[in-house]
Amino acid sequence: QVKDAVEDVPGVVSAKIDLVWEPIWDKSRMSEEALVELGLDEDWRSEGAGDSSDYETVELYLSLGSNQGDRRKNIEDALSLLNIELGTPFKAVSSLIETDPWGFESDEKFINAAVYYELEFKEGYNPEAEGLMILEICKSIERRLGRTGNPQYDEKGERVYSDRPIDIDILLFGDNKIDCEELTVPHKLMYERDFVMIPLKEINNKL
Ligand code: ADP
Ligand code: MG
Repeated sequence: QVKDAVEDVPGVVSAKIDLVWEPIWDKSRMSEEALVELGLDEDWRSEGAGDSSDYETVELYLSLGSNQGDRRKNIEDALSLLNIELGTPFKAVSSLIETDPWGFESDEKFINAAVYYELEFKEGYNPEAEGLMILEICKSIERRLGRTGNPQYDEKGERVYSDRPIDIDILLFGDNKIDCEELTVPHKLMYERDFVMIPLKEINNKL
């Protein structure tokens, strides 16, 4: 409109116009679709119009393991995909350590690592629902990196472990305690497993 108006004034080729524009809407109240439509989707949670106190930072620790294929590449690919799917780059990652298979016999040693993310959730979020979302992200990345089949159990109902290109487990999700069919957090066996605790303590020795 401004451009048309200027072009209609005889002899005026250009004009300098200072626009003062302040958003009149509250981004935090808009639907995700509307934000995408308006190109406001990036980082809208952290920079939302003056209500950042409505969000809390939640610490997420994951364990990664691979003993099939190009193990180092599997771990690196998993980290890149996690950064994308979780919508934020990791805050810390451990060294990669080589470990013997735990709970089963195999000639293929593992490479293990731990990684730490800080996620933003709206205050009063549902830990179980969000935890299951994160689990689904982990499982979808496992499938994408070539992991097939479901967890196997023996006749006594004990887990039977096997070689895998990638395993991504949720260790800690803030101080939430989750115990449902598909997900237990903190991870049930983490404190018994050196291959989990050594990388984890490298990131945060208070854990
Ligand atoms: P494992 O990690 O024990 O070798 P899987 O990766 O096949 O075995 O996981 C078996 C199941 O464990 C998954 O399908 C998932 O639903 C469940 N599970 C329970 N708690 C967790 C957790 N904290 N992190 C990841 N998976 C979990
Ligand atoms: Mg697993």
